[in-house]
Amino acid sequence: MKPLPLPALSPADVERFWSKVDRSGGPDACWPWRAGCTADGYGSVRLRISRGRWGSYRAPRVALTITSEFVSHEAFVCHTCDNRRCCNPAHLFTATQAENLLDMRRKGRGTPMPRPVRKPLGKGSRLDAARVIAMRERYLGGETIASLMRSFGVSRNHTTRVVKGTSWRNLGAAV
Ligand SMILES: [Zn+2]
Repeated sequence: MKPLPLPALSPADVERFWSKVDRSGGPDACWPWRAGCTADGYGSVRLRISRGRWGSYRAPRVALTITSEFVSHEAFVCHTCDNRRCCNPAHLFTATQAENLLDMRRKGRGTPMPRPVRKPLGKGSRLDAARVIAMRERYLGGETIASLMRSFGVSRNHTTRVVKGTSWRNLGAAV
C-alpha cells in the first residue's frame, strides 16, 4: 500500500508533532513516540489534510519529512535502530539512502548495516538486503508481484512477504 503524501504542515502542526515525541534522551538516543501506535507498532499521528478531512500517518515518516529537505512519499522510511516508535531523524533513512549505505559498506566506508536478524522465509532464497530493497522500491513504483517474482526468482508468497514487510523486517517495512 502506498502511503499518502503528507499534507503541508504549519509551524503549529510541527510543534504539536514534536510535543508527542520523547526527546529527553539527547541527540543520539531513540526518540519514542508517546501517543498512539498502529497495530504493527509504529507511532501513528493524525494530520489535517484539508477542512474537515484528517488522515493517519506514521510518525517516523513525518519526523523524517519535516527534518529533511525532501522525502518522496513513495520511498520507504526505515529505522537503523529497529525501534518502530522511534522518531529521531538520525535513526531514520529512506530505502534509497539504504542502498547508499550498502554501497558505502561494500567500499569499506561508513557504519555497517544491521545484520539480518531473521533469515528470509522459504528455501533456496536468492535475496539479500540490497535485492530486498530493490524489490520494495520496484513494488512501490508500481511493478506487480507476478513480475517481481519472475524477475527475482522467488515464490509468490515470498515476494508478497518481502514487499509487505513481514519478512526482512529489520530493513524496515513500508512506512
Ligand atoms: Zn531510534
